[in-house]
Amino acid sequence: MKKIAFITGITGQDGAYLAEFLLNKEYAVVGGFRRLSTPNFSRLDELGITNRIRLVETDLLDTSNLTRIIMEVRPQEVYNLGAQSFVAHSFKNPILTGNVTGIGVTNLLEAIRIVDPGIRFYQASTSELFGQAREFPQNENTPFYPRSPYGVAKLYGHWITINYRESYNIFASTGILFNHESPLRGIEFVTRKITDAVARIQLGKLDHFEIGTLDVKRDWGYAKDFVEGMWLMMQHDVPDNFVLATNESHSVREWIEVCFNYVGKRIVWEGIGIKELGKDEETGKVVVKINPEFYRPAEVESLIGDYSKAKRELGWEPNVRYKELAELMLRADLEKQK
Ligand code: NAP
Repeated sequence: MKKIAFITGITGQDGAYLAEFLLNKEYAVVGGFRRLSTPNFSRLDELGITNRIRLVETDLLDTSNLTRIIMEVRPQEVYNLGAQSFVAHSFKNPILTGNVTGIGVTNLLEAIRIVDPGIRFYQASTSELFGQAREFPQNENTPFYPRSPYGVAKLYGHWITINYRESYNIFASTGILFNHESPLRGIEFVTRKITDAVARIQLGKLDHFEIGTLDVKRDWGYAKDFVEGMWLMMQHDVPDNFVLATNESHSVREWIEVCFNYVGKRIVWEGIGIKELGKDEETGKVVVKINPEFYRPAEVESLIGDYSKAKRELGWEPNVRYKELAELMLRADLEKQK
């Protein structure tokens, strides 16, 4: 009998890659998607797996919907990847974010507790829990200090998962994942926004792009590596919390430079603060401008993850590092733009 996995957020970056990974492991994959007036299966289509997944209408805000799905699908593993996941958006929609990204986790855990507490549960926690980080690098024991409604909602999701593990003996694990990117990353996220813009500038379709803070630093890994880590957590003998990261931290400025370098352009920076400009050294043309609209009310300055527990206990390690990641995303965007 095939193992059955139910994934919420199947239309997102991680949902698509995890589904592909589990199909390759001979799972029957059931994917939860939100009903929209126009269905959005573009990532699943891009991977060519839409027809291999059973798609069910799922809303994390509706416990009765979730309970019905769990009763009917009877999965062995549930991966909760659905969320309002964009930090900037969470400042504009803090209540919606709290409901979907925070309370939504309880809605799903309740469905599992009621129907079958033997189901294994994965919660998509995040490095945004560390926010204004109290120590460097951050590991599973680093105190949390979220800096956005998204981070606060995820903190609730994180602790309610641990609470259901301890209260009801549910196999409920959390993956505290640092940023992970790919050609399937949403276009509003900074790494993809940059690779998309650099590709269009290179092909003469765009003059320049605008960005917020250049010097925030993140630990960026490859989404395909990270979905494997999720699965490994679910195969472990005990439920637990694990950091997945690359243990390297780079600024947005460096990401821009690496991307332009890849297409043979060197960027020189002039001015300071909101007047700073990035210019193509050869032509003197402005290709990057600062727009304070992209500043956040509270910023997370710098994050770097320590994944040694995942390495030790799960045998997990990232394969793709920062520069290779930027280049593979840029190559994909150049292809798409052509
Ligand atoms: P994503 O591309 O933004 O996908 C989010 C998914 O959640 C989408 O499928 C979205 O559906 C769905 N969703 C939103 N609201 C929903 C609702 N009310 N009910 C059901 N589904 C809903 O995010 P991702 O990058 O794949 O990330 C997957 C998970 O990992 C998220 O929980 C994210 O917060 C977390 N995470 C991501 C990272 C990262 O760097 N990527 C790092 C740490 C943690 P639509 O397509 O209809 O919008």
